Amino acid sequence: MKRVLLDKEQIFTGPLILVNKEHPLRKTIGRQELRVVGRGVKLQREAALQLKLLLEEQSEIISVSGFRSHKEQKNLYQQSLRDNGENFTRNYVALPRCSEHECGLAIDLGENKEPIDEICPSFPYTGPCQDFRNKAPWFGFVQRYEKGKEAATGIAHEPWHFRYVGFPHSLIMQEKALSLEEYLEFLRKEKRIVWSCGHKSIEIQYISAGTEGAAAEIPEGRPYQISGDNEGGIVVTLW
Ligand SMILES: [Zn+2]
Repeated sequence: MKRVLLDKEQIFTGPLILVNKEHPLRKTIGRQELRVVGRGVKLQREAALQLKLLLEEQSEIISVSGFRSHKEQKNLYQQSLRDNGENFTRNYVALPRCSEHECGLAIDLGENKEPIDEICPSFPYTGPCQDFRNKAPWFGFVQRYEKGKEAATGIAHEPWHFRYVGFPHSLIMQEKALSLEEYLEFLRKEKRIVWSCGHKSIEIQYISAGTEGAAAEIPEGRPYQISGDNEGGIVVTLW
């Protein structure tokens, strides 16, 4: 066993961070961490790589909006208030710092058909868009704001908004029909789960971090990934 010390700051970064009204983004994403996925739209490196694999040779789907800086989100919010009013804006546009788009892990996709609605692009449950939806969890993406999950997410149903959480979390969330809020709550309660995929078994641990951080026990030579939850804990994924 190898003891890995986890810095408290690690709570606020990684593919599983929860960003919503109650959990504003704490760490700003550096431009050097971003990659272009198309039409000038950017995502964090690993998310960009996986999205490119998903959209390979695909011309029916386009990237509408990815990473937004704090300033861009603020402008979008104010613009929407002016154009669409308070009710619409509250339902479909997150407050600055509370938008997943500011962490570079969220992407709005649209059908490649003019005109394209920049806030609510069309992304139907049929054809190539549905094929994308079916494949997405195998590449670490989930449809983030599902119908029926409004009470958990605080956001209206958005068929076009996908979030990178990383594999196998994406697949477990889909299998158990859990939003990110519910999945993190599930991990906090369970503390440790083992998930089997074919002949592979993946262990996921949830470690609460104190003011001093936390420590994880990792078996020698076993690959692992770490992500904060943006609340008070760190998720360790052991392959
Ligand atoms: Zn979005």
